[in-house]
Amino acid sequence: MSGSANPQPGGPLLGGPADPEHDPSAAYVLDRGYVDRLTSRLQASSGRTFAVNSPIDGAPLAHIPASTPADVAEAYVRARRAQAAWARVPVETRAAAMLRLHDLILDRQAEIIDLIVLESGKARKHAFDEPLHIALTARYYARTAERFLGTERRGGVVPGLTRVEVNQVPKGVVGIISPWNYPFTMALCDGLPALLAGNAVVAKPDEQTMLSALLGARLLDEAGFPEDLWQVVAGPGPEIGPPLIEGADYVCFTGSTATGRVIAGQCAERLIGCSLELGGKNPLLVLRDADLERAAEGAVRASFSNAGQLCVSTERIFVADQVYDRFVERFVARTEAMTLGATLDWGNDMGTLVSQAQLDRVMAHIDDAVAHGARVLAGGRARPDLGPYYVEPTILEGVTPEMACFAHETFGPVVSLYRFHDEADAVARANEGDYGLNAAIFSHDGARARSLARHIKCGSVNINEAFAASFASLDAPMGGMRSSGLGRRQSREGILRYTEPQTVATQRLLRFAPMLGMSEEAYAKLMTANLRVMKRLGRA
Ligand code: ADP
Repeated sequence: MSGSANPQPGGPLLGGPADPEHDPSAAYVLDRGYVDRLTSRLQASSGRTFAVNSPIDGAPLAHIPASTPADVAEAYVRARRAQAAWARVPVETRAAAMLRLHDLILDRQAEIIDLIVLESGKARKHAFDEPLHIALTARYYARTAERFLGTERRGGVVPGLTRVEVNQVPKGVVGIISPWNYPFTMALCDGLPALLAGNAVVAKPDEQTMLSALLGARLLDEAGFPEDLWQVVAGPGPEIGPPLIEGADYVCFTGSTATGRVIAGQCAERLIGCSLELGGKNPLLVLRDADLERAAEGAVRASFSNAGQLCVSTERIFVADQVYDRFVERFVARTEAMTLGATLDWGNDMGTLVSQAQLDRVMAHIDDAVAHGARVLAGGRARPDLGPYYVEPTILEGVTPEMACFAHETFGPVVSLYRFHDEADAVARANEGDYGLNAAIFSHDGARARSLARHIKCGSVNINEAFAASFASLDAPMGGMRSSGLGRRQSREGILRYTEPQTVATQRLLRFAPMLGMSEEAYAKLMTANLRVMKRLGRA
């Protein structure tokens, strides 16, 4: 594994006058005007600030004003006012703003990516996935919203006489709590369908990555969405989360399973819905007929994209006995050939972890596995020479159930290899544990892999690909089974979670009661006869 360490400043965000509080040791100094323009988008009146640090050097990048619970309440007042007007805006007009956002995202991608890399420390190629995903989401929902949201005719109880329509009514204001791992994508992607469906949003991005989320809010403004429609608040989850849930008509959360349970409990108290996209311990299966080069290349992306800080990334690889050695040789070689570094340029195959807490968690898993007898086939070390929180892409063999990384999510660049003898056993082991987010299968025989996929208890299964094939297919639902979540983002499900279906039934001629002096008993007999006829006619 080679290291590259040449910082390459770029974009409009670097190089201007600095924040007076800036740390002189910082490698990157954000333009103060640029930061002010972003932070002025916040509802935050506490007078307190907190630092956002760059994981590239550990030094503060900017100071973010902190919100109070009263700011959250004010955000809801503004959002509700804006939503009342927005709900009357035709869907075509909302969609046109979404397509302008699409173009803005593509035009401004260099700036977006610079900020994501500075704030998260990820490799530039992984940062590119973020504007890409938002552009895909904006286009998909802009082009489908009218179809999904349009009033739909349904069958009435009495054919010809009962006219039934279903309207999709916006829920109101959606609270979105998003994580740091995809700071731009996760802050925006669930909100776009919410806006198209006629809702407003109050967003609480993770404290560590506020700038990327605020840039997203600014781009929405530039695309022509009313500014008050998208409120942003800042602060620690346990402090700002409860008032955020208190004010919301629906909550959308992406993060850990532990926090997801807390949020689901608070939503249940208020009888509001929520969607939760949570953790995973995602399996990848290499069947004996797999193309091993393709599987090894896929396994590198599956395990080390975004330094493994990705809900759908692979942490367990099950390989058929017959091809185990040949697969492992290729996988290790490709991993060792990766270019490692935490810099702004395109050269790195993997960036750094985001924080000291992430470094501690990942190294604890590696150290525990090694202490209990696991073998390190690649990586295994922290690399302070590349960044304060850098950990090498790590492949482990001989991982057993008493090791923490066997069943617990590492959320880092650490993957364990296991052999299997028969496929049913591989599927059973892939299904062990409580998670059920994403799986991958590599095989020449697509039909056989697809039939195996039906037995895997995961919300998505990718065949001959790690996760991108399902994740980027916006017309298909994305989410977790079991402890990996509740509800789905993307597709029809991803927009209709933000609406209340409202049934409007118009009855003609017939009344649902005896007519013309008919007795209740005769009416019951007539209805019974009708039911028998309807069944014979094959009606639903
Ligand atoms: P991680 O442990 O990886 O940081 P979390 O699930 O704790 O993941 O964080 C994801 C998001 O949830 C962040 O925006 C965080 O601020 C927020 N959060 C954390 N705790 C709570 C809470 N009790 N209520 C609401 N939001 C929370």
